[in-house]
Amino acid sequence: MEIVFDAVSCNESFARVAVAAFITHLNPTLEELADIKTAVSEAVTNAIIHGYENLSGYTKHGEMRPAYSIIHPGKVRLHCILENDTLSIEVSDQGKGIEDVARAMEPLFTTKPELERSGMGFAFMEAFMDELEVESIPGKGTRVHMWK
Ligand code: ATP
Ligand code: MG
Repeated sequence: MEIVFDAVSCNESFARVAVAAFITHLNPTLEELADIKTAVSEAVTNAIIHGYENLSGYTKHGEMRPAYSIIHPGKVRLHCILENDTLSIEVSDQGKGIEDVARAMEPLFTTKPELERSGMGFAFMEAFMDELEVESIPGKGTRVHMWK
């Protein structure tokens, strides 16, 4: 399953629900479902607020920002594969990228304390999924790959 959507915060819930729908036929437990939805939500939120710094073509109320929408198309890609009951989820953006991935993944590390971020997104992804891999190229974008 592959979905590409605009980097706007109302799409965080869309992405969560899309992944949940994708795995419904496996009858996941409520706990498994909650874990997966939380991890997807954290990765997608990061793409929107850090990757694109919330500069997609929309205001936080979902209204189009004409100038920005041309300069910053801001797309997030969600790619899911099911293979022998293992769910692989990839969330990628073409935003600003991460200079030091190892440091960014440390619990409590955040570059946006002023936005009241707690720096726990990657720690949650790591805790709620079985495996997590993060690749990023500054200026090109970030890909978060998780398995459960
Ligand atoms: P929280 O998730 O608790 O609200 P946070 O988003 O700052 O806070 P993490 O999700 O752990 O914490 O991310 C850590 C840091 O990694 C971010 O502050 C940001 O600098 C960087 N980062 C994460 N994802 C991306 C991304 N997709 N593009 C660019 N930078 C990112
Ligand atoms: Mg985060």
